[in-house]
Amino acid sequence: MIRMNNINKVYQTDMVQTHALRDFNLNVEQGEFIAVTGPSGSGKTTFLNIAGMLEPFSSGQYQLDGVDVGGLNDNQRADLRNQKIGFIFQGFNLIPDLNLYENVEVPLRYRGIKAAERKKRIERCLELVGLGARAKHLPQQLSGGQQQRVAIARALAGEPRFLLADEPTGNLDSLMARQVMEILEDINREGATIVMVTHDPELARRAPRNIQVVDGQLADFSLYQGRPSSAS
Ligand code: ADP
Ligand code: ADP
Repeated sequence: MIRMNNINKVYQTDMVQTHALRDFNLNVEQGEFIAVTGPSGSGKTTFLNIAGMLEPFSSGQYQLDGVDVGGLNDNQRADLRNQKIGFIFQGFNLIPDLNLYENVEVPLRYRGIKAAERKKRIERCLELVGLGARAKHLPQQLSGGQQQRVAIARALAGEPRFLLADEPTGNLDSLMARQVMEILEDINREGATIVMVTHDPELARRAPRNIQVVDGQLADFSLYQGRPSSAS
């Protein structure tokens, strides 16, 4: 599970300090599916980046499955990330000179998964996102929405315990967005914990738990039964 205790994140650029997260507290239990909403600039991406150990926090405690993230060195953190976390981020680009099959394969090689098992997973996941026939294509031969689906296949093929998604349906039409949501619901049923940032209220409503980030803090509707409030 994810345990964040009084996490603060301060960005310092030139003369400007931005307090992106303020005493941010959140517990996520294994198997949850959480939609994160909130105004632009409220700290949602910062929270996901910290949860995924992609950037450090300024103060506070973060435990992932009982491991104190603040106490890890770079290698330990990278290992923990590769073992446990899958990302569907807009910024997580595909490698341009690898075909779709090879792109999906990258994280599986990292994890030392054997060739036969890799092949099975890659074919299944490309099929799942409707790109089974395109395995040999390069990313540049695909539309933005199709590239997004490759990134989703890549994340799913790793069978991560935690899937962190930042606007996973942002480039997709509404039919494809619903299909992606169904894929996420399926892998959640199979045990993955999902934290998804979305601007789409329809998708957020489908998630069992909704949280809102406002000014770097959490307002948790499921805990407060519809009354927004600063949660701790
Ligand atoms: P959201 O995802 O909710 O739109 P972000 O987490 O991206 O919000 O940003 C939260 C705040 O932190 C914003 O004020 C943003 O400008 C600032 N911020 C984010 N990343 C950086 C950075 N690398 N350097 C400086 N400020 C940043
Ligand atoms: P120190 O805090 O003494 O610099 P760390 O091992 O914590 O040593 O940090 C080494 C590098 O890793 C730093 O560049 C830091 O920005 C980055 N880093 C630190 N903590 C995290 C984290 N939780 N997630 C991602 N990167 C981190």
